[in-house]
Amino acid sequence: MRIPIAVTPGLRWRSRTPTRSGHIDPPNWRPMSEVRIGNGPSTVEGRIQEAEYDRRRREHNVHLQPGMLVVLNRAPYRVVEIRERPDDLWPERFEELWTKALADWRRHGRGEEPQRATWRDRPVNVVVAPDGGGPREHRIGRASYEWAVLPEHYAVCRSCGELPPCREEELDREVGAQLAVSERLMAIPAGNCMGCGEGISHRQKSERFPGPNLWRPDLPEGTARFHARGECAHWVDRYREQWKAQKVPVAAEQAALDLGEGEVL
Ligand SMILES: [Zn+2]
Ligand SMILES: [Zn+2]
Repeated sequence: MRIPIAVTPGLRWRSRTPTRSGHIDPPNWRPMSEVRIGNGPSTVEGRIQEAEYDRRRREHNVHLQPGMLVVLNRAPYRVVEIRERPDDLWPERFEELWTKALADWRRHGRGEEPQRATWRDRPVNVVVAPDGGGPREHRIGRASYEWAVLPEHYAVCRSCGELPPCREEELDREVGAQLAVSERLMAIPAGNCMGCGEGISHRQKSERFPGPNLWRPDLPEGTARFHARGECAHWVDRYREQWKAQKVPVAAEQAALDLGEGEVL
């Protein structure tokens, strides 16, 4: 039995093969010794650590070049060409951003006046081709966009060919997590807290939601109860969201409001 529990939205997808950061303009990181205020590390170990930190940043930030592999829409592409966009062919949204950037600079005057030809957010034409074959694609992107650069040896899902974690894998994981939650919910005895599953004593405050029990449709109406305590609050919030999303009859909703929070049972 599948219980429709709202799942936490997935974190932003990242390729499982570690990527480096590819920059259209030469990466402008500066070593710690140049950016720090005050004295540097006073021990040999501190200086070695700092040198190591600089080295890792230098290796991680690369100047994007044709031939490099990048990730686009979760798929591997090879960069074919990078070209500056002719000045009179800027897309409208870039013109708007440029006008705004210039106005911002005039108002606050931080740093040097931005120049159109070198502005960090200027549009750049990037031609890419799917790695392993397929038609070339023309993209227009901000010069400041950080491309995820794949190494030549990278992993693909044997089943679907996507870069891991592939969509199917993510779905499997989500379904697995849902099943685990469902199983736990199904084991909660009627009358207990639908969050932690423990009993609700007469001295404990609780929150009750009228109407069908959304997490345990097999139980009678009005059995969705939770401890009114901090530890169980996130379950109450999640349930309330789903409960509100249902078409709750006005009378039932009013009844819930009348019961108020922290009703003593
Ligand atoms: Zn797959
Ligand atoms: Zn509880």
